[in-house]
Amino acid sequence: HGHHPSSYAKLLLVCSISSGGLVAHAESQSDKETLNQGEPKKKRVVVLGTGWAGTSFLKDLDISSYDVQVVSPRNYFAFTPLLPSVTCGTVEARSIVEPVRNIIKKKNGQILFWEAECLKINAEKRQVCCLSNVDDNLAGRNDFCLHYDYLVIAVGAQVNTFNIPGVLEYCHFLKELEDARKIRRTVIDCFEKAVLPGLNEEERRTNLHFVIVGGGPTGIEFAAELHDYIHEDLVNLYPGVKDLVKITVIQSGDHILNTFDERISSFAEQKFQRDGIEVLTGCRVVRVSDKLIHMKLKSTAEDMSISHGMVVWSTGVGTRPVVKDFMEQIGQGSRLVLATDEWLQVKGCENEDISTIFKAADKDNSGTLTVDELREVIEDILIRYPQMDLYLKSNHLFDVTDLFRDSDGNEREEVDIEGFKLALAHVDSQMKSLPATAQVAAQQGTYLSRCFNHMEQCKSNPEGPLRFRGSGRHQFRPFRRPSNDEARESAVRENMYKHFGQFAPLGGEQAAAELPGDWVSLGRSTQWLWYSVYASKQVSWRTRILVVSDWTRRKVFGRDSSRI
Ligand code: FAD
Repeated sequence: HGHHPSSYAKLLLVCSISSGGLVAHAESQSDKETLNQGEPKKKRVVVLGTGWAGTSFLKDLDISSYDVQVVSPRNYFAFTPLLPSVTCGTVEARSIVEPVRNIIKKKNGQILFWEAECLKINAEKRQVCCLSNVDDNLAGRNDFCLHYDYLVIAVGAQVNTFNIPGVLEYCHFLKELEDARKIRRTVIDCFEKAVLPGLNEEERRTNLHFVIVGGGPTGIEFAAELHDYIHEDLVNLYPGVKDLVKITVIQSGDHILNTFDERISSFAEQKFQRDGIEVLTGCRVVRVSDKLIHMKLKSTAEDMSISHGMVVWSTGVGTRPVVKDFMEQIGQGSRLVLATDEWLQVKGCENEDISTIFKAADKDNSGTLTVDELREVIEDILIRYPQMDLYLKSNHLFDVTDLFRDSDGNEREEVDIEGFKLALAHVDSQMKSLPATAQVAAQQGTYLSRCFNHMEQCKSNPEGPLRFRGSGRHQFRPFRRPSNDEARESAVRENMYKHFGQFAPLGGEQAAAELPGDWVSLGRSTQWLWYSVYASKQVSWRTRILVVSDWTRRKVFGRDSSRI
C-alpha cells in the first residue's frame, strides 16, 4: 500500500507556486502544425519563462533523457534584486542580465530556445501556443504551437493594479528591466522640465514630486535609491531646484516594510524621516490622473489628493492571464494563484486526488464518514501526502477528533466529508505559504530539476535510494519549509526550502537584514554584507565583474544622468 510504483512518477512532477507549475502527462499525440512532431523517444519538456525558476531548472537539468524546449518573450535572465539600482544608474541594465543562450549552451546536449510569449496552454491537448515578439516586418510567421509531455510553468507574475483607474495609464511599474530603464529616463525628464524657463514655482515643485505607492521592499528600496541619486548627484547638476524636490511613499498599512521584523520597519521609518522622505501611512489610492493622485484616509474616510511628477506603483503582484486561463481549464478558476502540491505538481491534473480517497472511503455514499472510515482516509492521505503527517498526527493546526464533536462538545457518530475537506485545504495552504521571492523560485527550479533527473531511477526502483527513504513512503521530500526538528537533520533538510533571510537596503550606505535564526542586522556593516551577498549571487562571472565595476564607477564618478 505504501509503495505504489505507478504513483511515484506522478508525484515527482512538480511546479513552482508563485511562479509556475508543471503538468505531467505520459501520452500525447503529434500534430502536423507543431515544431516537435514525429515520434520522439525522449519525453518532451517545455519550459515557459527564463526568470529565476526557469533558469535554475535548466541549469541543473540532466538533458540526456529529455527533449527540452524553452519559450520566453525575453531572451535573457534578469537579476531582479538589482532592478531598483538600475532605475538610478547605480548599476547599468546590461550588467544584471545574462543571455539565455549563454546559459543553455553549456549543456552537453541541445536545449532549444524560442523567443516568444506563450498565449495559451491547452491542458487537454498538452499543447502550448506561442507568439513571437520579434518585429513583424521580418519574413515568416510569428506563431507556433508545441506539444509537451511535461510542462514547466515558470512565467512569474504580473503587476497588480487592483483595477484602480489611471494606474495603467499614469504610473510606472518596477517589475521588468524595461520598467527600470523607463523610470531612469523619466526622473531626468522631471528635472529637465523643472528647470525650463517659464515655469512657476508650483509647477517646478509638481514636476519634482516623486511618489511611490506601496511600502513593501521594492517600493522602499526604490525610494532610498532615488533619494541617494538626487542628493549625491542631481542636486549638484540642478542646483537651482534642489530645494523643490520631494519624495513621498504612500502605504495602505500602518507601517512600511510590514512583512519584516518590527525593528527593521521602525529603523526604516526613522531613517526616512531623517532623510526627509515623507511616509503617508493608512492611505488608500483610489484614482490616479496625469497630475494628481487621489486617496482616501483609512481612519477618517477623508478624501485627499496630491500632485505628482512621477508615480511608481509597487503594490504587489498577481497571476498572469495565460495562467489564469489554464487554471480555469483545470478547475482552479476560483483561485487567485495556481495551486500545486508540495512536489510542485499542479493540482487538478492528477488522476487521483483527495476526492478519490474520500469517495472510496464513503462506502454507503452518504457524504459522511464514521470514525473508522475517517481513520482509513487519514491513513490513505498520509500515504499519498506524507507532508500532512506532522499536522494530522501532532494536531498542529487542528485536532482531528474535534471533527467528531459538535459545537457543544458532544460526541458525534459521523463526520461531514465537506467539512473535513475544508479543514484539510486549510492545513494544506498553511503548510506551503512560501513568499513570492527569487530565493523561493530559484530553489523550486533546482528542486524540480532534481526530481526530473531522478525520475527514471525512481520508476525502476520504487523504494528509492536509501537517502530518500527517510519518510518510508516516498522518494522525494516535499518542497516546503522544514519544521524545527527536520531542520536539524541534514539528510532531511536536503531538497527542502532553505531561507537565507532578506535584505532591505535603505540608502546612504545603510541597510537592514533579517537573517536566519531571527537575527536582525542594521546599519553600514549590513550594507557591506548586502554588497557581498549580491555580488556572490550573480549568475555568471561576467555579470559579477560588471556589477562590481558599476558600483566602483559610481563611487568614483557618480551616476550618469544622460537621458539615453
Ligand atoms: P520571473 O523571474 O519574473 O520570470 C518570469 C519569466 O517568464 C521571464 O523570463 C518572463 O519573460 C517569462 N514570461 C512571462 N510571460 C510569459 C509567457 N506568457 N510565456 C513565456 N514566458 C513568459 N526576490 C528576492 O528573493 N530578493 C530580492 O531582493 C528581490 N528583489 C526584487 C526587486 C524587484 C524590483 C522585483 C520586481 C522583484 C524582486 N524579487 C526579489 C522577487 C523576485 O524577482 C521574484 O520572486 C522572482 O523573479 C520570481 O521568479 P520567477 O521565475 O517566478 O519569475
